[in-house]
Amino acid sequence: ETIQIQTESKEYPVFVGEGCRNELPVFLTNHFPDLTRILIITDETVAKLHLDTLLQVLKPWEPIIFTAPPGEKAKTFEVYYDALTTALASRLDRKSVVLSFGGGAVGDLTGFVAASFMRGIPFIQVPTTILAHDSAVGGKVAINHPLGKNMIGAFYQPEAVFYDLELLNTLPIHEIRSGFAEVIKHALIADPHFYDWLRLNIHNLNAITKEQLSGSLVQGIKIKNKFVSQDEKETGIRAFLNLGHTLGHAIEAEMGYGNFTHGEAVMIGTIFALKLSNNLLGLSFNISEFIDWVTELGYETTVPKQLSFESLIAKMRQDKKSVGDAIRFVLLEQVGHPLLQEVSEEVLWQELTRF
Ligand code: NAD
Ligand code: ZN
Repeated sequence: ETIQIQTESKEYPVFVGEGCRNELPVFLTNHFPDLTRILIITDETVAKLHLDTLLQVLKPWEPIIFTAPPGEKAKTFEVYYDALTTALASRLDRKSVVLSFGGGAVGDLTGFVAASFMRGIPFIQVPTTILAHDSAVGGKVAINHPLGKNMIGAFYQPEAVFYDLELLNTLPIHEIRSGFAEVIKHALIADPHFYDWLRLNIHNLNAITKEQLSGSLVQGIKIKNKFVSQDEKETGIRAFLNLGHTLGHAIEAEMGYGNFTHGEAVMIGTIFALKLSNNLLGLSFNISEFIDWVTELGYETTVPKQLSFESLIAKMRQDKKSVGDAIRFVLLEQVGHPLLQEVSEEVLWQELTRF
């Protein structure tokens, strides 16, 4: 299946399917007739598991490989600098292509390398995680600063995304959960039918069928596209994609990146946002049923005990989306109807105590 992503600055295809990496050569030949070089940026784990498979397809181009450390460690200034050194030393030019091969961390790093090398050269994403249905679409690319995650970056859209589902077979269960939390988030903010379908059909993330996975990812990508296409630079509705992320980011940061996956933290934040929505906006939503379902899927549903409310609230105050003293949350009036709501620290404190 092909989903066409439409933003103000660019239109590009996302190819989704088993084995769709095999379409890469034709795409490259058609779209880059003068292609000089390909730089693949990947991480150690993905390289070990899947690089040979990708290289078989790209052999004629003799790609240059840059391997980053796995996970969030890929998104440092040092790794970014080393990747640029490789690009310069290998004499990449404006007619070269940078190809990202990995999860969201590698995608964010690679996109920023592509955006900044010679003021921007073409970039293609070959995502290898479920979470990347979110991160590979929409053109936010970034690395981290010690003072803040994703603080150094750009909006830079890829030329295409080749989402080959065969590459997802090796994902550990925590990474499956991480990505699937964003699928559930997409359903909650945009599509009650999709949400009901998920809740009725998905009961074991270890045993999800290919059809269920591909259906979920395609629908998630379409929803992400809907928000991004109307608001590429996040001045308005794109912010709704942050459901669950205000508390989720705070939990992730306080736990230390790598100790808790992004999506698993976002799931706790989502439950919190649903409770706030029930109490502040009269959302009618059966939260205990939701908690039972996601518990069955293996998610944690409460804030880890070792974290203090003070430090979580302090972290939430630093959120890019917060203004002044109020902490801004994405809440739901109904499933499919998100809105932004400022919540006082007093109310937050109460809700966290009850949570
Ligand atoms: P990731 O790249 O860190 O991948 C998670 C882990 O899975 C890594 O250890 C990786 O080596 C491993 N892995 C990747 N593919 C694998 C495979 N096929 N088999 C086995 N292991 C594999 O990150 P992620 O979870 O995909 O994404 C999280 C990152 O994405 C964060 O840095 C976050 O900030 C970013 N993100 C960006 C956006 C955006 O819009 N740009 C949106 C959401 C998240
Ligand atoms: Zn997220």
